Amino acid sequence: MAKVFVIAEHRDGRLKKSTFELLGASAAAGNETHAILLGDGVAELAKELAHYGAQKVHLIQDAALKLYSSEAYTKAITPVLKSASPDIVLASHTPTGRDFMPRVAARLGVGLASDCTQLAFEGSKIKARRPVYAGKATVEVEFLGAGPQLATVRANALGAPKPDTSRTAEILNVTADLSGLKTKVIEVVKGASGRPDVTEASIVVSGGRSLKSADNFKMIEEMADVLGAAVGASRAAVDAGYRPHRDQVGQTGKVVSPALYIACGISGAIQHLAGMRTSKVIVAINTDAEAPIFQVADYGVVGDIFAVVPALTQELKKLKEH
Ligand SMILES: Cc1cc2nc3c(=O)[nH]c(=O)nc-3n(C[C@H](O)[C@H](O)[C@H](O)COP(=O)(O)OP(=O)(O)OC[C@H]3O[C@@H](n4cnc5c(N)ncnc54)[C@H](O)[C@@H]3O)c2cc1C
Repeated sequence: MAKVFVIAEHRDGRLKKSTFELLGASAAAGNETHAILLGDGVAELAKELAHYGAQKVHLIQDAALKLYSSEAYTKAITPVLKSASPDIVLASHTPTGRDFMPRVAARLGVGLASDCTQLAFEGSKIKARRPVYAGKATVEVEFLGAGPQLATVRANALGAPKPDTSRTAEILNVTADLSGLKTKVIEVVKGASGRPDVTEASIVVSGGRSLKSADNFKMIEEMADVLGAAVGASRAAVDAGYRPHRDQVGQTGKVVSPALYIACGISGAIQHLAGMRTSKVIVAINTDAEAPIFQVADYGVVGDIFAVVPALTQELKKLKEH
């Protein structure tokens, strides 16, 4: 059994599903599972962390933590870990987790396994699997030496557990010394999209250069709406100005691991595959039967997206109605 700390992530007053995945995986392995919850006026969220497996919640509230900042998070988290000496510290491999975890690892003088897609708890140790070479191979890593083992885990990789609302957690109020911060986040300006983020959605419908215009992405959005999915894009589509960069999937975009990834008119270049090949089920629609995307696809349609996508959307609508 290990002592596992999960750094909770939340936005707009809601905890992220990826945090529940980490708590659930740790609790299911019989570990002593703690959460660290940072923010300002976020105490209510502690209850929900308990529902997913947190036995203790280290609650750090401060005005300087109202909006995420890597400096403030690092300064608040590090002393808690130093005094509690957990075996394992987990965070989601989101832009936030990718930002503060390396800093925390450096402060603790320990290693970090980033972008893990599998975790195995073995006593007080973990073995983690992470994709390398743009997803062409997977390595298994373990930690040598003393100190906590830090890992960030890709969203949707572990699967969220069902909440048990009868569970409660001990709340430990922690005061952080956040004096002398060199940076302050004043405002977060949101993008216009009201859709789920590609990294968190369990279904992603993506379009490529073949969409030919931003306007044509409406048909991708329509399918996404029926499925409750996020809209993704290849870099070629983003570079052409059809979609904002936040939707880009791939090596220089976002890494996604949804239950279902539908690639519409995307060739499947290695840099795109790096961002989506760990998706559970991949569907590809492409006019070119030799397109590399078909090598990773579970289901493929050789056809024109301008005919296949609207037809598929209609069928999905019918299925949903019934
Ligand atoms: C350093 C580096 C980083 C990169 N990072 C990324 C990244 O993060 N993400 C990413 O996506 N790319 C990335 N790329 C670019 C990548 O190499 C490809 O150029 C890009 O993914 C191609 O996008 P695409 O598949 O939309 O376009 P194309 O390669 O032009 O493919 C279009 C596909 O659509 C098909 N098609 C055409 N018309 C239709 C139709 N009517 N119906 C159905 N199918 C049709 C074609 O057969 C073709 O397979 C990177 C490249 C480099 C060098």
